[in-house]
Amino acid sequence: MNRIKRDFYHAPGAPEDLDADYKVTATALDGKVRALAVRTTRLCGKAMEIHGTSPSATVALGRFMTGTLLLAANLKGENDSITTNIRSDGPIRGMTAVCDSLGNVKAYCIEPVVETFHREPGKLDIAAVVGKGILTVVRDLGLKEPYVGSTELISGEIGEDFAHFLGVSEQTRSVVSLGVLVDSGGVRHAGGFMIQLMPDAGQEVAEYLERRATGGFPGVTFLLSEGMNPEKILDMFLGDPEIRYLTGRPVQYACSCSRERMERSLTALGNKDLSELASDPAGINLECHFCGSGYHFDRAEIEEIRSNAM
Ligand code: ZN
Repeated sequence: MNRIKRDFYHAPGAPEDLDADYKVTATALDGKVRALAVRTTRLCGKAMEIHGTSPSATVALGRFMTGTLLLAANLKGENDSITTNIRSDGPIRGMTAVCDSLGNVKAYCIEPVVETFHREPGKLDIAAVVGKGILTVVRDLGLKEPYVGSTELISGEIGEDFAHFLGVSEQTRSVVSLGVLVDSGGVRHAGGFMIQLMPDAGQEVAEYLERRATGGFPGVTFLLSEGMNPEKILDMFLGDPEIRYLTGRPVQYACSCSRERMERSLTALGNKDLSELASDPAGINLECHFCGSGYHFDRAEIEEIRSNAM
């Protein structure tokens, strides 16, 4: 790829590091669609490292985080966040991801080590790992009450489940494509894109996108392995020379846990539970689900939290 081409496919604010994880937004087709794409290779690798996930769980959790990042695109305020949650009957049992408006994401799955199923040689069967269940999305936009919506999983492959959620729960017709490629060396490529129809987009645009989505468009990880960046993937999918890139922003795996936050959640337990905890002479060890950081509270500290909580 020569220098000029690279500059053309560059959203304002996107990092100069060509291998970085980042998210871009764009509009196309006469403003009838909003388009987002993200590369998440490094952050999916980070999640795998933290949680020690097996290949199938790495893919499921990676797709889930990638989808959550795409859903988080309309967060604005510094304290806005989105929490996504799957509870299901497959071996992985469930996943939770949290993303903020600054592009920080963190996640965990209930069972990090699950058996590998294949749909065909070389293609993991993620639906078999996830199973049937419910996807819940909580958007906390700093208002009194967060927006909570949930829908049943329709495929367990996650991308289609996010698109179904957006269509049913938020009345936004969307195409969502997510991909994570793992091999013995870890996460090779990961990313995704989401195309959303504006309310005034007519049937013609909807049908055009439908044809693109079902017409054998290559998977995201294949496009990434061919050296395409998120901007280029949107350009290829939409086929609109007038596509306009609006923003680019780095995304990363980050956890905001701290001793103070752990103290606050202990305080919230209330007197009875804290008394019980304070009865153990060894104190207690708490571990953050998202990053694995450990926090020890000895007996005297728990007693102090208890007396402050009263
Ligand atoms: Zn943490």
